[in-house]
Amino acid sequence: MYSAKAYSAASDTSPLAASAITRRDLTEHDVQIEILFCGICHSDLHSVRNEWSEFMPTVYPIVPGHEIIGRVTKVGSAVTKYKSGDLAAVGCLVDSDRTCPNCQAGLEQFCPNLTLTFNSPDKHLGSVTYGGYSDSIVVDEHFVLSVPSNLDLAGAAPLLCAGITTYSPMRHWGVTKGKKVGVVGLGGLGHMGVKFAHALGSHVVVFTTSPHKKEDALRLGADEVVISRDTNAMQKHAGSFDFILDAVSAEHDINAYLNLLRLDGNLTLVGAVPKPLAVSAFGLIMGRRSLSGSNIGGIPETQEMLDFCGEHNITADVEVIPIQKVNEAYERLLTSDVKYRFTIDMASLNSE
Ligand code: NAP
Ligand code: ZN
Repeated sequence: MYSAKAYSAASDTSPLAASAITRRDLTEHDVQIEILFCGICHSDLHSVRNEWSEFMPTVYPIVPGHEIIGRVTKVGSAVTKYKSGDLAAVGCLVDSDRTCPNCQAGLEQFCPNLTLTFNSPDKHLGSVTYGGYSDSIVVDEHFVLSVPSNLDLAGAAPLLCAGITTYSPMRHWGVTKGKKVGVVGLGGLGHMGVKFAHALGSHVVVFTTSPHKKEDALRLGADEVVISRDTNAMQKHAGSFDFILDAVSAEHDINAYLNLLRLDGNLTLVGAVPKPLAVSAFGLIMGRRSLSGSNIGGIPETQEMLDFCGEHNITADVEVIPIQKVNEAYERLLTSDVKYRFTIDMASLNSE
Protein backbone atom coordinates (compact mmCIF):
# COMPACT_ATOMS: atom_id res chain seq x y z
CA MET A 1 0.00 0.00 0.00
CA TYR A 2 1.06 3.55 -0.54
CA SER A 3 -0.22 6.99 0.37
CA ALA A 4 -1.74 9.25 -2.29
CA LYS A 5 -2.86 12.87 -2.14
CA ALA A 6 -6.57 13.49 -2.61
CA TYR A 7 -9.47 15.84 -1.95
CA SER A 8 -12.25 14.35 0.14
CA ALA A 9 -15.46 15.36 1.92
CA ALA A 10 -15.98 14.22 5.50
CA SER A 11 -19.79 14.53 5.54
CA ASP A 12 -22.71 15.62 3.39
CA THR A 13 -22.28 19.19 4.58
CA SER A 14 -18.48 19.37 4.58
CA PRO A 15 -16.50 21.05 1.83
CA LEU A 16 -13.95 18.99 -0.06
CA ALA A 17 -10.48 19.39 1.47
CA ALA A 18 -6.97 18.00 1.08
CA SER A 19 -6.40 14.59 2.61
CA ALA A 20 -4.20 11.52 2.32
CA ILE A 21 -5.64 8.19 1.14
CA THR A 22 -4.29 4.68 0.75
CA ARG A 23 -3.95 3.02 -2.66
CA ARG A 24 -3.21 -0.68 -3.07
CA ASP A 25 0.06 -2.15 -4.24
CA LEU A 26 -0.22 -3.42 -7.78
CA THR A 27 -1.50 -6.94 -8.38
CA GLU A 28 -0.26 -8.62 -11.56
CA HIS A 29 -3.17 -7.24 -13.64
CA ASP A 30 -3.05 -3.69 -12.25
CA VAL A 31 -2.01 -0.42 -13.83
CA GLN A 32 -0.89 2.54 -11.71
CA ILE A 33 -1.79 5.90 -13.20
CA GLU A 34 -0.57 9.37 -12.32
CA ILE A 35 -3.75 11.45 -12.68
CA LEU A 36 -3.30 14.55 -14.85
CA PHE A 37 -6.91 15.73 -15.24
CA CYS A 38 -10.23 14.79 -13.67
CA GLY A 39 -13.59 16.15 -14.80
CA ILE A 40 -16.28 17.26 -12.35
CA CYS A 41 -19.55 15.42 -12.98
CA HIS A 42 -22.83 16.44 -11.36
CA SER A 43 -22.87 12.87 -10.00
CA ASP A 44 -19.84 13.82 -7.87
CA LEU A 45 -21.94 16.55 -6.30
CA HIS A 46 -25.02 14.30 -5.85
CA SER A 47 -22.77 11.75 -4.09
CA VAL A 48 -20.77 14.17 -1.93
CA ARG A 49 -24.03 15.62 -0.63
CA ASN A 50 -25.62 12.17 -0.26
CA GLU A 51 -28.54 13.13 -2.51
CA TRP A 52 -28.85 9.52 -3.72
CA SER A 53 -29.06 8.16 -0.17
CA GLU A 54 -32.01 5.90 -1.11
CA PHE A 55 -30.15 4.16 -3.94
CA MET A 56 -26.46 4.38 -3.10
CA PRO A 57 -25.80 5.94 0.30
CA THR A 58 -22.50 7.76 0.55
CA VAL A 59 -19.78 6.38 2.79
CA TYR A 60 -17.55 9.12 4.22
CA PRO A 61 -14.94 10.26 3.67
CA ILE A 62 -15.69 10.32 -0.05
CA VAL A 63 -13.15 11.04 -2.80
CA PRO A 64 -15.23 11.66 -5.93
CA GLY A 65 -14.11 11.78 -9.57
CA HIS A 66 -14.69 9.37 -12.44
CA GLU A 67 -13.47 11.27 -15.49
CA ILE A 68 -9.80 10.42 -15.20
CA ILE A 69 -6.97 10.98 -17.67
CA GLY A 70 -3.38 10.27 -16.73
CA ARG A 71 -0.10 8.64 -17.51
CA VAL A 72 0.85 5.07 -16.63
CA THR A 73 3.60 5.00 -14.01
CA LYS A 74 3.82 1.27 -13.30
CA VAL A 75 2.23 -1.99 -14.49
CA GLY A 76 1.77 -5.44 -12.94
CA SER A 77 3.65 -8.44 -14.32
CA ALA A 78 0.67 -9.80 -16.33
CA VAL A 79 -0.41 -6.49 -17.88
CA THR A 80 -0.33 -6.63 -21.67
CA LYS A 81 -2.18 -3.54 -22.93
CA TYR A 82 -0.24 -0.74 -21.18
CA LYS A 83 3.31 0.20 -20.32
CA SER A 84 4.87 2.93 -18.25
CA GLY A 85 4.56 6.32 -19.95
CA ASP A 86 1.35 5.53 -21.91
CA LEU A 87 -1.64 7.85 -21.70
CA ALA A 88 -4.54 6.10 -20.00
CA ALA A 89 -8.06 6.84 -18.86
CA VAL A 90 -10.49 5.53 -16.26
CA GLY A 91 -14.21 6.17 -16.16
CA CYS A 92 -16.95 5.20 -13.71
CA LEU A 93 -16.10 1.49 -13.47
CA VAL A 94 -13.03 -0.13 -11.92
CA ASP A 95 -14.23 -3.74 -11.53
CA SER A 96 -17.09 -6.20 -12.14
CA ASP A 97 -17.54 -9.96 -11.78
CA ARG A 98 -16.59 -10.58 -15.48
CA THR A 99 -18.72 -13.75 -15.52
CA CYS A 100 -22.35 -12.61 -15.59
CA PRO A 101 -24.18 -12.39 -18.93
CA ASN A 102 -23.92 -8.59 -18.91
CA CYS A 103 -20.15 -8.66 -18.40
CA GLN A 104 -19.84 -11.33 -21.09
CA ALA A 105 -21.70 -8.98 -23.43
CA GLY A 106 -19.35 -6.09 -22.60
CA LEU A 107 -22.07 -4.37 -20.58
CA GLU A 108 -20.12 -4.19 -17.33
CA GLN A 109 -22.16 -1.15 -16.27
CA PHE A 110 -25.10 -3.51 -15.66
CA CYS A 111 -23.15 -6.17 -13.74
CA PRO A 112 -24.86 -6.93 -10.41
CA ASN A 113 -21.40 -6.97 -8.80
CA LEU A 114 -19.85 -3.91 -10.36
CA THR A 115 -17.36 -1.73 -8.52
CA LEU A 116 -17.72 1.97 -9.20
CA THR A 117 -14.66 4.20 -9.21
CA PHE A 118 -15.74 5.82 -5.96
CA ASN A 119 -18.08 4.96 -3.08
CA SER A 120 -18.22 1.21 -3.89
CA PRO A 121 -16.98 -1.55 -1.56
CA ASP A 122 -13.25 -1.95 -2.23
CA LYS A 123 -12.44 -5.66 -2.71
CA HIS A 124 -8.75 -5.05 -2.09
CA LEU A 125 -8.55 -2.65 0.84
CA GLY A 126 -11.88 -3.28 2.52
CA SER A 127 -13.30 0.21 2.80
CA VAL A 128 -14.75 2.01 -0.22
CA THR A 129 -13.16 2.94 -3.51
CA TYR A 130 -11.69 6.42 -3.88
CA GLY A 131 -12.05 8.33 -7.12
CA GLY A 132 -10.06 10.66 -9.30
CA TYR A 133 -9.69 13.82 -7.20
CA SER A 134 -6.27 12.41 -6.40
CA ASP A 135 -2.74 12.29 -7.79
CA SER A 136 -2.71 8.54 -8.40
CA ILE A 137 -4.96 5.51 -8.85
CA VAL A 138 -4.49 1.74 -9.29
CA VAL A 139 -6.94 -0.03 -11.63
CA ASP A 140 -7.19 -3.47 -13.23
CA GLU A 141 -6.11 -3.12 -16.87
CA HIS A 142 -9.48 -4.44 -18.09
CA PHE A 143 -11.04 -1.18 -16.86
CA VAL A 144 -8.34 1.11 -18.23
CA LEU A 145 -8.99 2.84 -21.57
CA SER A 146 -6.63 4.08 -24.28
CA VAL A 147 -6.69 7.76 -25.17
CA PRO A 148 -6.30 8.80 -28.83
CA SER A 149 -3.08 10.84 -29.00
CA ASN A 150 -4.60 13.78 -30.93
CA LEU A 151 -7.05 14.75 -28.17
CA ASP A 152 -6.52 17.63 -25.74
CA LEU A 153 -6.17 15.90 -22.39
CA ALA A 154 -8.15 18.34 -20.24
CA GLY A 155 -11.01 18.20 -22.74
CA ALA A 156 -10.79 14.43 -23.08
CA ALA A 157 -11.28 13.73 -19.36
CA PRO A 158 -15.07 14.37 -19.43
CA LEU A 159 -15.47 11.84 -22.24
CA LEU A 160 -15.06 9.13 -19.60
CA CYS A 161 -18.48 9.87 -18.12
CA ALA A 162 -20.29 12.74 -19.88
CA GLY A 163 -19.08 11.35 -23.21
CA ILE A 164 -19.99 7.70 -22.86
CA THR A 165 -23.26 8.43 -21.03
CA THR A 166 -24.56 10.38 -24.02
CA TYR A 167 -22.89 8.31 -26.77
CA SER A 168 -24.22 4.95 -25.55
CA PRO A 169 -27.99 5.66 -25.64
CA MET A 170 -27.63 7.44 -28.97
CA ARG A 171 -26.05 4.35 -30.46
CA HIS A 172 -28.58 2.08 -28.78
CA TRP A 173 -31.59 4.04 -30.08
CA GLY A 174 -30.21 4.44 -33.59
CA VAL A 175 -29.35 8.11 -33.76
CA THR A 176 -28.16 8.53 -37.33
CA LYS A 177 -28.38 10.82 -40.31
CA GLY A 178 -31.87 12.13 -40.93
CA LYS A 179 -33.16 11.55 -37.38
CA LYS A 180 -34.57 14.42 -35.31
CA VAL A 181 -32.90 14.41 -31.91
CA GLY A 182 -33.56 16.54 -28.83
CA VAL A 183 -31.10 17.19 -26.03
CA VAL A 184 -32.58 18.52 -22.80
CA GLY A 185 -30.25 20.49 -20.49
CA LEU A 186 -27.06 22.03 -21.84
CA GLY A 187 -24.68 21.04 -19.07
CA GLY A 188 -21.72 18.66 -19.05
CA LEU A 189 -23.68 15.70 -20.42
CA GLY A 190 -25.97 17.74 -22.63
CA HIS A 191 -23.21 19.53 -24.50
CA MET A 192 -21.54 16.18 -25.27
CA GLY A 193 -24.93 14.87 -26.44
CA VAL A 194 -25.15 17.78 -28.88
CA LYS A 195 -21.67 17.08 -30.23
CA PHE A 196 -22.39 13.37 -30.74
CA ALA A 197 -25.86 13.82 -32.26
CA HIS A 198 -24.36 16.36 -34.68
CA ALA A 199 -21.40 14.11 -35.53
CA LEU A 200 -23.83 11.21 -36.15
CA GLY A 201 -25.60 13.37 -38.73
CA SER A 202 -28.94 14.01 -37.04
CA HIS A 203 -30.97 17.22 -36.82
CA VAL A 204 -30.29 18.46 -33.27
CA VAL A 205 -32.60 20.57 -31.15
CA VAL A 206 -31.41 21.79 -27.74
CA PHE A 207 -33.90 22.45 -24.96
CA THR A 208 -32.53 24.80 -22.35
CA THR A 209 -33.79 26.86 -19.44
CA SER A 210 -30.87 29.27 -19.99
CA PRO A 211 -31.52 31.70 -22.89
CA HIS A 212 -27.90 32.92 -22.73
CA LYS A 213 -26.69 29.46 -23.85
CA LYS A 214 -28.36 29.78 -27.28
CA GLU A 215 -25.27 30.92 -29.22
CA ASP A 216 -23.12 28.26 -27.60
CA ALA A 217 -25.68 25.56 -28.41
CA LEU A 218 -25.55 26.48 -32.09
CA ARG A 219 -21.74 26.59 -32.05
CA LEU A 220 -21.64 23.15 -30.39
CA GLY A 221 -23.66 21.66 -33.26
CA ALA A 222 -27.35 22.31 -32.57
CA ASP A 223 -29.55 23.14 -35.55
CA GLU A 224 -32.23 24.73 -33.38
CA VAL A 225 -32.55 25.92 -29.78
CA VAL A 226 -35.79 26.00 -27.79
CA ILE A 227 -36.15 27.85 -24.51
CA SER A 228 -38.05 25.16 -22.62
CA ARG A 229 -40.06 27.59 -20.49
CA ASP A 230 -41.65 28.95 -23.71
CA THR A 231 -44.76 26.76 -24.11
CA ASN A 232 -45.52 28.00 -27.63
CA ALA A 233 -42.01 27.26 -28.85
CA MET A 234 -42.26 23.77 -27.32
CA GLN A 235 -45.65 23.17 -28.95
CA LYS A 236 -44.22 23.81 -32.41
CA HIS A 237 -42.20 20.58 -32.08
CA ALA A 238 -45.10 18.38 -30.86
CA GLY A 239 -45.01 14.82 -32.18
CA SER A 240 -41.83 15.29 -34.21
CA PHE A 241 -38.82 13.74 -32.44
CA ASP A 242 -37.33 10.30 -33.04
CA PHE A 243 -35.24 10.49 -29.89
CA ILE A 244 -34.81 12.83 -26.93
CA LEU A 245 -31.97 12.63 -24.41
CA ASP A 246 -32.86 14.14 -21.05
CA ALA A 247 -29.70 15.16 -19.16
CA VAL A 248 -31.26 17.41 -16.53
CA SER A 249 -29.91 17.11 -12.98
CA ALA A 250 -32.95 18.49 -11.09
CA GLU A 251 -36.70 17.97 -10.90
CA HIS A 252 -38.56 18.96 -14.08
CA ASP A 253 -41.62 18.00 -16.13
CA ILE A 254 -40.74 15.16 -18.50
CA ASN A 255 -44.29 15.01 -19.92
CA ALA A 256 -43.57 18.19 -21.83
CA TYR A 257 -40.88 16.21 -23.70
CA LEU A 258 -42.81 12.94 -24.10
CA ASN A 259 -45.38 14.97 -26.04
CA LEU A 260 -42.71 15.99 -28.50
CA LEU A 261 -41.96 12.40 -29.56
CA ARG A 262 -43.31 11.00 -32.82
CA LEU A 263 -44.81 7.51 -33.24
CA ASP A 264 -42.48 5.00 -31.55
CA GLY A 265 -40.19 7.80 -30.43
CA ASN A 266 -38.04 7.29 -27.35
CA LEU A 267 -37.05 9.53 -24.50
CA THR A 268 -34.02 8.33 -22.58
CA LEU A 269 -33.32 9.70 -19.14
CA VAL A 270 -29.70 9.96 -18.17
CA GLY A 271 -30.17 12.74 -15.61
CA ALA A 272 -30.21 11.03 -12.22
CA VAL A 273 -32.76 13.21 -10.47
CA PRO A 274 -32.92 12.03 -6.85
CA LYS A 275 -36.74 12.31 -6.53
CA PRO A 276 -39.25 10.31 -8.64
CA LEU A 277 -40.59 12.07 -11.74
CA ALA A 278 -44.31 12.03 -12.58
CA VAL A 279 -45.20 10.41 -15.92
CA SER A 280 -48.52 10.90 -17.70
CA ALA A 281 -49.86 7.60 -19.09
CA PHE A 282 -51.30 9.47 -22.08
CA GLY A 283 -47.92 10.88 -23.01
CA LEU A 284 -46.77 7.29 -23.57
CA ILE A 285 -49.97 5.64 -24.85
CA MET A 286 -50.56 8.17 -27.57
CA GLY A 287 -47.94 7.39 -30.18
CA ARG A 288 -46.64 4.14 -28.63
CA ARG A 289 -43.81 6.18 -27.17
CA SER A 290 -41.24 4.79 -24.79
CA LEU A 291 -39.40 6.15 -21.81
CA SER A 292 -36.13 4.53 -20.81
CA GLY A 293 -32.95 5.09 -18.89
CA SER A 294 -29.29 4.52 -19.58
CA ASN A 295 -26.27 4.08 -17.35
CA ILE A 296 -22.83 5.20 -18.63
CA GLY A 297 -21.52 2.46 -20.99
CA GLY A 298 -19.51 -0.75 -20.94
CA ILE A 299 -15.77 -0.94 -21.43
CA PRO A 300 -15.80 -1.94 -25.15
CA GLU A 301 -18.26 0.83 -26.00
CA THR A 302 -16.29 3.38 -23.95
CA GLN A 303 -13.21 2.55 -26.02
CA GLU A 304 -15.32 2.77 -29.20
CA MET A 305 -16.53 6.23 -28.08
CA LEU A 306 -12.96 7.42 -27.36
CA ASP A 307 -11.82 6.20 -30.78
CA PHE A 308 -14.82 7.92 -32.40
CA CYS A 309 -13.77 11.14 -30.60
CA GLY A 310 -10.21 10.66 -31.87
CA GLU A 311 -11.47 10.30 -35.46
CA HIS A 312 -13.82 13.29 -35.23
CA ASN A 313 -11.59 15.36 -32.92
CA ILE A 314 -14.33 15.62 -30.31
CA THR A 315 -13.57 16.74 -26.74
CA ALA A 316 -15.58 18.53 -24.07
CA ASP A 317 -15.55 22.32 -23.78
CA VAL A 318 -13.83 22.69 -20.43
CA GLU A 319 -13.02 25.29 -17.83
CA VAL A 320 -9.80 24.03 -16.27
CA ILE A 321 -9.55 24.75 -12.55
CA PRO A 322 -7.08 24.02 -9.77
CA ILE A 323 -8.41 21.61 -7.17
CA GLN A 324 -8.52 24.44 -4.62
CA LYS A 325 -11.53 25.83 -6.57
CA VAL A 326 -13.56 22.61 -6.44
CA ASN A 327 -16.06 23.78 -3.80
CA GLU A 328 -16.72 26.96 -5.75
CA ALA A 329 -17.19 24.86 -8.90
CA TYR A 330 -19.85 22.77 -7.12
CA GLU A 331 -21.80 25.93 -6.23
CA ARG A 332 -21.57 27.08 -9.85
CA LEU A 333 -22.87 23.68 -11.06
CA LEU A 334 -25.99 24.28 -8.98
CA THR A 335 -26.71 27.51 -10.85
CA SER A 336 -25.95 25.94 -14.28
CA ASP A 337 -22.93 28.26 -14.50
CA VAL A 338 -20.46 26.04 -16.31
CA LYS A 339 -19.24 26.08 -19.91
CA TYR A 340 -19.58 23.18 -20.14
CA ARG A 341 -17.51 20.99 -17.87
CA PHE A 342 -15.06 21.77 -15.09
CA THR A 343 -11.85 19.78 -15.35
CA ILE A 344 -9.40 19.76 -12.48
CA ASP A 345 -5.73 20.17 -13.36
CA MET A 346 -4.39 17.65 -10.87
CA ALA A 347 -0.91 19.23 -10.83
CA SER A 348 -2.53 21.74 -8.46
CA LEU A 349 -2.62 19.01 -5.83
CA ASN A 350 1.17 19.27 -5.53
CA SER A 351 0.84 22.56 -3.64
CA GLU A 352 -1.17 20.86 -0.87
P1 NAP B 1 -24.72 19.69 -15.18
O1 NAP B 1 -23.46 19.98 -15.92
O2 NAP B 1 -24.96 20.37 -13.89
O3 NAP B 1 -25.93 19.99 -16.20
C1 NAP B 1 -27.27 19.86 -15.84
C2 NAP B 1 -28.11 20.81 -16.70
O4 NAP B 1 -29.47 20.57 -16.40
C3 NAP B 1 -27.90 22.27 -16.43
O5 NAP B 1 -26.79 22.82 -17.12
C4 NAP B 1 -29.21 22.88 -16.89
O6 NAP B 1 -29.19 23.06 -18.31
C5 NAP B 1 -30.22 21.78 -16.58
N1 NAP B 1 -30.94 22.07 -15.33
C6 NAP B 1 -30.41 22.21 -14.08
N2 NAP B 1 -31.38 22.45 -13.18
C7 NAP B 1 -32.54 22.45 -13.87
C8 NAP B 1 -33.91 22.61 -13.50
N3 NAP B 1 -34.27 22.85 -12.22
N4 NAP B 1 -34.87 22.53 -14.48
C9 NAP B 1 -34.52 22.30 -15.75
N5 NAP B 1 -33.23 22.14 -16.17
C10 NAP B 1 -32.28 22.22 -15.24
O7 NAP B 1 -24.85 18.14 -14.86
P2 NAP B 1 -24.23 16.88 -15.64
O8 NAP B 1 -22.90 16.56 -15.05
O9 NAP B 1 -24.37 17.07 -17.09
O10 NAP B 1 -25.20 15.72 -15.13
C11 NAP B 1 -26.58 15.75 -15.44
C12 NAP B 1 -27.30 14.65 -14.70
O11 NAP B 1 -26.90 13.38 -15.24
C13 NAP B 1 -26.97 14.55 -13.21
O12 NAP B 1 -28.14 14.20 -12.50
C14 NAP B 1 -25.95 13.43 -13.13
O13 NAP B 1 -25.90 12.80 -11.88
C15 NAP B 1 -26.52 12.51 -14.19
N6 NAP B 1 -25.55 11.54 -14.73
C16 NAP B 1 -26.07 10.32 -15.09
C17 NAP B 1 -25.24 9.38 -15.66
C18 NAP B 1 -25.82 8.08 -16.11
O14 NAP B 1 -25.06 7.13 -16.33
N7 NAP B 1 -27.11 7.98 -16.30
C19 NAP B 1 -23.89 9.66 -15.84
C20 NAP B 1 -23.42 10.91 -15.47
C21 NAP B 1 -24.25 11.85 -14.92
P3 NAP B 1 -29.85 24.37 -19.01
O15 NAP B 1 -29.14 25.54 -18.38
O16 NAP B 1 -29.51 24.18 -20.44
O17 NAP B 1 -31.31 24.32 -18.75
ZN1 ZN C 1 -20.34 11.18 -14.11
